[in-house]
Amino acid sequence: MLIATILSAQCTDVRVNMITPELFRKYKSAADWARADLKQIEQDIRTCGFYRNKAVNIQGATRKIAKDFGGKVPSTLEELTTLPGVGRKTATVVLGNAFGIPAIACDTHVLRLSHRLQLSEHADDPVKLEFDLADIVPKKDWTLFSHLLIFHGRRICVARKPNCPACPIAEHCPAANRPDLW
Ligand code: SF4
Repeated sequence: MLIATILSAQCTDVRVNMITPELFRKYKSAADWARADLKQIEQDIRTCGFYRNKAVNIQGATRKIAKDFGGKVPSTLEELTTLPGVGRKTATVVLGNAFGIPAIACDTHVLRLSHRLQLSEHADDPVKLEFDLADIVPKKDWTLFSHLLIFHGRRICVARKPNCPACPIAEHCPAANRPDLW
């Protein structure tokens, strides 16, 4: 999950899912990634875009996991964000989806929809937004809530021209058919 999340930056899930089966056959542990040739990692992930940066981050993170965390991905936000290339958003995705620990991942869809639905006055600041959403969404639903906003943002409430006529939550949305609020 950690590797896939790092790979998913500026890349589609479809593309990531195409390469991960072979990647995870080849690299089975943090130590495998840590001792691999960086150029080889670049080659193995090159179709995901920004592959040089991602290769450096993956190797940096896995080396730290191997050295400082006994080869196991840590399960707290504080520890995860000490890994190279792992910011708060990546850490919350891993917590929520790999460890089952409720977490709100504020990606571009969550930011955009929170603004349109006027869920927070801080929809331009991922960290403040995360805290605002945590106040209004039951903790047990934090991970699901992120998924729902992301799904809705991909399918209906897209960035350029949201499909308000087809939106099942339009009656609750202050921005419905209001381009000035998009
Ligand atoms: S009504 Fe329109 S702007 Fe509001 S959530 Fe639905 S698609 Fe997005």
